[in-house]
Amino acid sequence: MSKESGVLTSPAYRGRFAPSPTGDLHMGSLLAAVASYLQARRAGGEWLLRIEDLDPPRTVPGATDRILRVLDGYGFEWDGEVCHQSRRTELYMAAIERLRADGWLYGCACTRKEIAQIAHAGIDGPVYPGTCRAGLAPGREARAWRVRVGDRGMAVPDALQGWLRQDLAREVGDFVLLRADGLVAYQLAVVVDDAAQGITDVVRGADLLDSTPRQCHLQQLLGYATPAYAHIPVLVNERGEKLSKQTLAHPLVVGDAAGALVTALSLLRQSPPPALRQAKLAEVWGWAEAHWCMDALIGLRQLYPPEGGGGVFG
Ligand code: GLU
Repeated sequence: MSKESGVLTSPAYRGRFAPSPTGDLHMGSLLAAVASYLQARRAGGEWLLRIEDLDPPRTVPGATDRILRVLDGYGFEWDGEVCHQSRRTELYMAAIERLRADGWLYGCACTRKEIAQIAHAGIDGPVYPGTCRAGLAPGREARAWRVRVGDRGMAVPDALQGWLRQDLAREVGDFVLLRADGLVAYQLAVVVDDAAQGITDVVRGADLLDSTPRQCHLQQLLGYATPAYAHIPVLVNERGEKLSKQTLAHPLVVGDAAGALVTALSLLRQSPPPALRQAKLAEVWGWAEAHWCMDALIGLRQLYPPEGGGGVFG
């Protein structure tokens, strides 16, 4: 929020980048960072940085510092303080408590194994068959807390991917918000944070497309506004696998910022002129801010690295 003559005002556009410190940033993550950043800059808006370190067992020691160092070294300028999800548990628990008080949550005693035995496969694992929905069987205790999805179909517009339609009951099922290990689920945290930070526009990878209807469902239950979504295509290797640590993505290094940025712009179909490869970082950003046009990505779900990998893979 910016303060003008004593009145709190929200900017017309506030975007964000929300990496999980489960490893170093790589070219795939850089695409989401660059696209969300340039979209915010072109709109004259703000761009916030959120570290999604919600899951301690998956957080790699030192990764948060390296992510911040790389983003800074690449010349990204974020607005306000960096937000760390690991410090916001109270906020998430308050939202969970609200949903529970409103009757949207129920305790679930089922183990993974029990669910796997009777559930059919959905878009993101087994669809919970609703065993505990009407109450726990005698002698059983709640392990996790699930949110009811009801029988409403969701339709979410996406600036790049068109309408995203999902039958939550059939394709996802009642999903977990508070896990058996006591951790808050990503779906809840991201919704609470996007609302608390006043995010108006989410630009992120299309690997999160399938999560979006779940997030919109939670936004509606919590009375939050739904931001505008644009899911950019994900970078895959020649076998169609998403670029990740497992597929040997190179970690980004600060020394090569200008070159990597030009590669990112080229992958994002911005057609940077060849001479930009020799340019300094500030010049590359100057060109990018002047020419950025996200429309070049409309309808694309995947991006392939240039012949020979272009230094993208290890
Ligand atoms: N933390 C997620 C990731 O690194 C991104 C979440 C989001 O942008 O909503 O894949």
